[in-house]
Amino acid sequence: MTEQTILVQADALSKRYHAGGGWVPALTEASLVVRAGELVALVGPTGSGKTTLLALLAGLEQPDAGAVTLLGQPLHALNSDQVIDLRSQAVGFIYQNYNLFPGFTVRENIGLPLRLMLRPPFDAQQRSGQLLAEMNIMELASRYPDELSGGQQQMVAVARALAANPPLILADEPTANLDSATARQIVARLRALADSGEHGVLLATHDLRTASQADRVLTLRDGRIVKETLLQPGRATQDVLAELA
Ligand code: ADP
Ligand code: MG
Repeated sequence: MTEQTILVQADALSKRYHAGGGWVPALTEASLVVRAGELVALVGPTGSGKTTLLALLAGLEQPDAGAVTLLGQPLHALNSDQVIDLRSQAVGFIYQNYNLFPGFTVRENIGLPLRLMLRPPFDAQQRSGQLLAEMNIMELASRYPDELSGGQQQMVAVARALAANPPLILADEPTANLDSATARQIVARLRALADSGEHGVLLATHDLRTASQADRVLTLRDGRIVKETLLQPGRATQDVLAELA
Protein backbone atom coordinates (compact mmCIF):
# COMPACT_ATOMS: atom_id res chain seq x y z
CA MET A 1 0.00 0.00 0.00
CA THR A 2 1.38 3.42 -0.91
CA GLU A 3 0.71 6.51 1.14
CA GLN A 4 -1.54 7.80 -1.62
CA THR A 5 -3.91 4.84 -1.49
CA ILE A 6 -7.45 6.09 -1.05
CA LEU A 7 -9.05 3.96 1.65
CA VAL A 8 -12.49 5.47 1.63
CA GLN A 9 -14.22 7.99 -0.58
CA ALA A 10 -17.58 9.66 -0.02
CA ASP A 11 -19.33 11.42 -2.86
CA ALA A 12 -22.17 13.83 -2.05
CA LEU A 13 -23.61 11.76 0.80
CA SER A 14 -26.97 12.79 2.10
CA LYS A 15 -28.94 11.19 4.91
CA ARG A 16 -32.07 12.23 6.77
CA TYR A 17 -33.88 10.62 9.64
CA HIS A 18 -37.56 10.43 10.42
CA ALA A 19 -38.12 11.97 13.82
CA GLY A 20 -40.95 13.72 15.63
CA GLY A 21 -43.31 13.36 12.67
CA GLY A 22 -40.89 15.10 10.27
CA TRP A 23 -37.62 14.57 8.48
CA VAL A 24 -34.36 15.72 10.03
CA PRO A 25 -31.45 16.21 7.63
CA ALA A 26 -28.43 14.61 9.37
CA LEU A 27 -25.99 14.95 6.48
CA THR A 28 -26.17 16.95 3.24
CA GLU A 29 -23.94 16.32 0.22
CA ALA A 30 -20.84 15.42 2.20
CA SER A 31 -17.76 14.43 0.17
CA LEU A 32 -14.35 13.38 1.43
CA VAL A 33 -11.46 10.99 0.96
CA VAL A 34 -9.20 9.40 3.56
CA ARG A 35 -5.85 8.07 2.37
CA ALA A 36 -3.38 5.68 3.96
CA GLY A 37 -0.83 7.60 6.00
CA GLU A 38 -3.08 10.43 7.10
CA LEU A 39 -4.99 11.40 10.19
CA VAL A 40 -8.09 13.40 9.33
CA ALA A 41 -10.17 15.06 12.03
CA LEU A 42 -13.89 15.63 11.70
CA VAL A 43 -14.98 18.45 13.97
CA GLY A 44 -18.35 19.98 14.67
CA PRO A 45 -20.77 20.46 17.53
CA THR A 46 -23.14 17.79 18.81
CA GLY A 47 -25.76 17.06 16.18
CA SER A 48 -23.64 18.24 13.25
CA GLY A 49 -23.58 14.77 11.63
CA LYS A 50 -20.23 13.26 12.68
CA THR A 51 -21.61 9.90 13.83
CA THR A 52 -23.92 9.68 10.82
CA LEU A 53 -21.01 10.25 8.44
CA LEU A 54 -18.84 7.58 10.12
CA ALA A 55 -21.74 5.10 10.06
CA LEU A 56 -22.26 5.69 6.32
CA LEU A 57 -18.53 5.29 5.56
CA ALA A 58 -18.50 1.96 7.43
CA GLY A 59 -21.61 0.75 5.61
CA LEU A 60 -23.48 0.54 8.92
CA GLU A 61 -26.14 2.81 7.44
CA GLN A 62 -27.15 3.56 3.89
CA PRO A 63 -27.24 7.05 2.38
CA ASP A 64 -30.39 8.48 0.81
CA ALA A 65 -28.18 9.87 -1.96
CA GLY A 66 -24.51 9.76 -2.87
CA ALA A 67 -21.99 6.94 -2.76
CA VAL A 68 -19.35 5.39 -0.50
CA THR A 69 -16.36 3.60 -2.02
CA LEU A 70 -14.44 1.50 0.50
CA LEU A 71 -11.10 0.02 -0.63
CA GLY A 72 -12.14 0.67 -4.21
CA GLN A 73 -15.50 -1.07 -3.86
CA PRO A 74 -18.73 0.92 -4.22
CA LEU A 75 -20.87 -0.21 -1.28
CA HIS A 76 -24.13 0.18 -3.20
CA ALA A 77 -22.97 -2.55 -5.61
CA LEU A 78 -22.55 -5.09 -2.78
CA ASN A 79 -25.14 -7.19 -0.97
CA SER A 80 -25.36 -7.00 2.81
CA ASP A 81 -23.13 -10.05 3.43
CA GLN A 82 -20.50 -8.59 1.14
CA VAL A 83 -20.66 -5.28 3.00
CA ILE A 84 -20.16 -7.09 6.32
CA ASP A 85 -17.16 -9.00 4.93
CA LEU A 86 -15.59 -5.89 3.45
CA ARG A 87 -16.17 -3.90 6.64
CA SER A 88 -14.56 -6.56 8.82
CA GLN A 89 -11.42 -6.48 6.67
CA ALA A 90 -11.34 -2.78 5.93
CA VAL A 91 -12.53 -0.91 9.02
CA GLY A 92 -11.63 -0.78 12.70
CA PHE A 93 -14.20 1.20 14.69
CA ILE A 94 -13.47 2.95 17.99
CA TYR A 95 -16.38 4.31 20.03
CA GLN A 96 -16.79 7.03 22.61
CA ASN A 97 -18.04 4.50 25.16
CA TYR A 98 -15.47 1.78 24.33
CA ASN A 99 -18.20 -0.84 23.68
CA LEU A 100 -16.21 -3.73 25.13
CA PHE A 101 -18.12 -6.92 25.83
CA PRO A 102 -18.51 -7.23 29.61
CA GLY A 103 -18.57 -11.05 29.66
CA PHE A 104 -15.21 -11.40 27.90
CA THR A 105 -11.71 -10.80 29.20
CA VAL A 106 -9.48 -8.15 27.67
CA ARG A 107 -7.63 -10.80 25.66
CA GLU A 108 -10.92 -12.22 24.37
CA ASN A 109 -12.31 -8.78 23.54
CA ILE A 110 -9.25 -7.97 21.44
CA GLY A 111 -9.51 -11.27 19.56
CA LEU A 112 -13.22 -10.95 18.91
CA PRO A 113 -13.02 -9.44 15.41
CA LEU A 114 -10.94 -12.43 14.29
CA ARG A 115 -13.33 -14.91 15.93
CA LEU A 116 -16.21 -13.19 14.12
CA MET A 117 -14.27 -13.67 10.88
CA LEU A 118 -14.19 -17.38 11.84
CA ARG A 119 -10.43 -17.45 12.26
CA PRO A 120 -9.13 -20.22 14.55
CA PRO A 121 -9.03 -19.49 18.32
CA PHE A 122 -5.24 -19.89 18.31
CA ASP A 123 -4.83 -17.09 15.73
CA ALA A 124 -7.05 -14.77 17.74
CA GLN A 125 -5.10 -15.57 20.93
CA GLN A 126 -1.78 -14.95 19.27
CA ARG A 127 -2.85 -11.67 17.67
CA SER A 128 -4.31 -10.50 21.02
CA GLY A 129 -1.01 -11.25 22.72
CA GLN A 130 0.89 -9.32 20.07
CA LEU A 131 -1.37 -6.26 20.43
CA LEU A 132 -1.29 -6.41 24.25
CA ALA A 133 2.49 -6.33 24.06
CA GLU A 134 2.63 -3.54 21.46
CA MET A 135 0.33 -1.37 23.52
CA ASN A 136 2.04 -2.11 26.81
CA ILE A 137 -1.09 -3.47 28.47
CA MET A 138 -0.12 -7.13 28.85
CA GLU A 139 -0.93 -6.98 32.56
CA LEU A 140 -4.59 -6.38 31.71
CA ALA A 141 -4.98 -9.55 29.61
CA SER A 142 -7.10 -11.56 32.05
CA ARG A 143 -9.19 -8.73 33.45
CA TYR A 144 -12.79 -7.96 32.59
CA PRO A 145 -13.84 -4.53 31.25
CA ASP A 146 -15.47 -3.49 34.55
CA GLU A 147 -12.08 -3.96 36.24
CA LEU A 148 -10.48 -1.28 34.02
CA SER A 149 -10.38 2.52 34.04
CA GLY A 150 -11.95 4.36 31.11
CA GLY A 151 -8.53 5.01 29.63
CA GLN A 152 -7.54 1.34 29.91
CA GLN A 153 -10.83 0.31 28.30
CA GLN A 154 -10.16 2.66 25.40
CA MET A 155 -6.63 1.25 24.94
CA VAL A 156 -8.21 -2.21 24.74
CA ALA A 157 -10.78 -0.90 22.27
CA VAL A 158 -7.98 0.50 20.09
CA ALA A 159 -6.23 -2.89 20.20
CA ARG A 160 -9.49 -4.61 19.26
CA ALA A 161 -9.99 -2.22 16.33
CA LEU A 162 -6.55 -3.28 15.06
CA ALA A 163 -7.02 -7.03 15.50
CA ALA A 164 -7.81 -7.76 11.86
CA ASN A 165 -5.22 -5.16 10.78
CA PRO A 166 -7.78 -3.01 8.91
CA PRO A 167 -6.32 -0.17 6.85
CA LEU A 168 -9.04 2.31 7.86
CA ILE A 169 -9.63 3.35 11.47
CA LEU A 170 -12.83 5.26 12.23
CA ALA A 171 -12.91 6.76 15.71
CA ASP A 172 -16.08 8.44 17.02
CA GLU A 173 -15.14 10.89 19.78
CA PRO A 174 -12.78 8.33 21.34
CA THR A 175 -11.37 10.74 23.93
CA ALA A 176 -14.59 12.47 24.99
CA ASN A 177 -14.80 10.60 28.32
CA LEU A 178 -11.09 10.53 29.14
CA ASP A 179 -8.86 12.77 31.24
CA SER A 180 -6.51 14.91 29.17
CA ALA A 181 -3.36 12.82 29.77
CA THR A 182 -5.08 9.60 28.68
CA ALA A 183 -6.72 11.39 25.78
CA ARG A 184 -3.30 12.53 24.57
CA GLN A 185 -2.04 8.95 24.77
CA ILE A 186 -4.94 7.64 22.66
CA VAL A 187 -4.54 10.40 20.07
CA ALA A 188 -0.77 9.78 19.94
CA ARG A 189 -1.51 6.12 19.22
CA LEU A 190 -3.87 7.07 16.37
CA ARG A 191 -1.26 9.56 15.06
CA ALA A 192 1.37 6.77 15.10
CA LEU A 193 -0.93 4.41 13.19
CA ALA A 194 -1.30 7.01 10.44
CA ASP A 195 2.43 7.79 10.47
CA SER A 196 3.21 4.09 9.92
CA GLY A 197 1.70 4.55 6.44
CA GLU A 198 -0.29 1.32 6.90
CA HIS A 199 -3.46 2.99 8.16
CA GLY A 200 -5.59 6.03 7.55
CA VAL A 201 -7.53 7.44 10.48
CA LEU A 202 -10.71 9.50 10.53
CA LEU A 203 -11.24 10.91 14.01
CA ALA A 204 -14.48 12.63 15.00
CA THR A 205 -14.04 15.04 17.88
CA HIS A 206 -15.36 18.30 19.14
CA ASP A 207 -12.07 19.03 20.88
CA LEU A 208 -9.92 21.37 18.77
CA ARG A 209 -6.78 20.44 20.69
CA THR A 210 -7.28 16.81 19.59
CA ALA A 211 -8.05 17.97 16.05
CA SER A 212 -4.80 19.96 16.00
CA GLN A 213 -2.90 16.62 15.79
CA ALA A 214 -4.46 15.88 12.39
CA ASP A 215 -3.06 16.44 8.90
CA ARG A 216 -6.39 17.85 7.78
CA VAL A 217 -9.48 19.02 9.60
CA LEU A 218 -12.96 18.84 8.12
CA THR A 219 -15.51 21.07 9.83
CA LEU A 220 -19.13 19.91 9.85
CA ARG A 221 -21.97 22.29 10.52
CA ASP A 222 -25.63 21.27 10.30
CA GLY A 223 -24.72 18.19 8.28
CA ARG A 224 -22.53 19.99 5.75
CA ILE A 225 -18.76 19.96 5.45
CA VAL A 226 -18.23 23.71 5.46
CA LYS A 227 -14.45 23.91 5.70
CA GLU A 228 -11.28 21.91 5.13
CA THR A 229 -8.12 23.06 6.93
CA LEU A 230 -4.69 21.67 6.05
CA LEU A 231 -2.32 21.59 9.02
CA GLN A 232 1.43 21.57 8.51
CA PRO A 233 3.37 19.46 10.98
CA GLY A 234 5.38 21.30 13.59
CA ARG A 235 3.23 24.41 13.72
CA ALA A 236 2.59 25.92 17.12
CA THR A 237 -0.59 24.54 18.66
CA GLN A 238 -1.82 28.07 19.40
CA ASP A 239 -1.64 29.03 15.70
CA VAL A 240 -3.45 25.88 14.73
CA LEU A 241 -6.18 26.42 17.31
CA ALA A 242 -6.63 29.99 16.12
CA GLU A 243 -7.02 28.80 12.54
CA LEU A 244 -9.58 26.15 13.50
CA ALA A 245 -11.65 28.38 15.78
P1 ADP B 1 -23.01 14.14 15.92
O1 ADP B 1 -22.38 12.80 15.95
O2 ADP B 1 -22.19 15.20 15.27
O3 ADP B 1 -23.47 14.58 17.29
P2 ADP B 1 -25.24 12.82 14.60
O4 ADP B 1 -24.73 12.24 13.34
O5 ADP B 1 -25.41 11.89 15.75
O6 ADP B 1 -24.33 14.07 15.01
O7 ADP B 1 -26.65 13.49 14.34
C1 ADP B 1 -26.92 14.37 13.25
C2 ADP B 1 -28.40 14.74 13.25
O8 ADP B 1 -29.17 13.59 12.92
C3 ADP B 1 -28.93 15.23 14.58
O9 ADP B 1 -29.93 16.18 14.33
C4 ADP B 1 -29.55 13.99 15.19
O10 ADP B 1 -30.56 14.32 16.10
C5 ADP B 1 -30.09 13.27 13.97
N1 ADP B 1 -30.10 11.80 14.13
C6 ADP B 1 -29.00 11.00 14.23
N2 ADP B 1 -29.36 9.70 14.35
C7 ADP B 1 -30.72 9.68 14.33
C8 ADP B 1 -31.71 8.64 14.41
N3 ADP B 1 -31.36 7.35 14.50
N4 ADP B 1 -33.03 9.00 14.36
C9 ADP B 1 -33.37 10.30 14.25
N5 ADP B 1 -32.49 11.31 14.16
C10 ADP B 1 -31.19 11.02 14.21
MG1 MG C 1 -21.81 11.60 17.55
